Amino acid sequence: MSVAPPVLTIQGLPIHLLPDYAQALRERLSGGLGTHVVTLNAEMVMQAGSNPALKTLIQGAELVVPDGVGVTLYLRLRRCGTYHAPGIDLVSQVLAHLQAETVFFLGGAPGVAARAVQYWQHRNPHLSIVGVQHGYFTPEEEGEILAQLQHLQPRLILVALGVPRQEFWIQRHRHLCPQSVWVGVGGSFDIWAGVKVRAPLWMRRLYLEWAFRLYQEPWRWRRMLALPRFAVQVLVPALWGGGG
Ligand code: UDP
Repeated sequence: MSVAPPVLTIQGLPIHLLPDYAQALRERLSGGLGTHVVTLNAEMVMQAGSNPALKTLIQGAELVVPDGVGVTLYLRLRRCGTYHAPGIDLVSQVLAHLQAETVFFLGGAPGVAARAVQYWQHRNPHLSIVGVQHGYFTPEEEGEILAQLQHLQPRLILVALGVPRQEFWIQRHRHLCPQSVWVGVGGSFDIWAGVKVRAPLWMRRLYLEWAFRLYQEPWRWRRMLALPRFAVQVLVPALWGGGG
């Protein structure tokens, strides 16, 4: 991506508008262009509203992709067209064909990242996975993990520590691998490992993935109250021509 992509703002946060996010990611990987990829959803937009450090972090990310239905609806209401790139799909598209660039899996419960790696080794035998580490490490272990990352310089570093911890973790440590693409992937390892199930395709097509998630993980209800708040604070004004 030599030319800066068009950007639309949502509550002061950027969303990059690209025809093909996977292609943009591949180009940044092969070019060794250090990148923090933020997969923006409504929950994160609301969190950033009350967390200035998270807001600044997202504003500084090289690639912010529209992950959730809320952000996609917002872009439609602002007459930008349809942009929808769930982080798990985006990373899957890249991993499915990656050969030359090395990958590191970091995060998830003990055993989960390793199973996610097995899943990917089966799906793409050419994938060069150089490291795997669960996400429940001690401060002492963290030092070893960082030394390992610095030594390996993996081109793609997937960080599954949950939002916003993974974003801040990437921000703190990305200088160790300046040419890497770092992506916060939330619960993706759980899905690839088979620990959690993704909403069926028909639900995803109807933008109902959030409802399935609530059904599968009812304890998330408090966190998910961000969605109706997002509808009132962001989508309704956009409907009447406001936004940004
Ligand atoms: N996780 C982790 N270390 C922690 C906290 C969480 O590795 O200290 C992992 C957790 O096991 C899960 C992921 O982070 O695999 C968070 O998944 P979730 O679906 O909650 O992601 P989010 O909705 O925050 O993107």
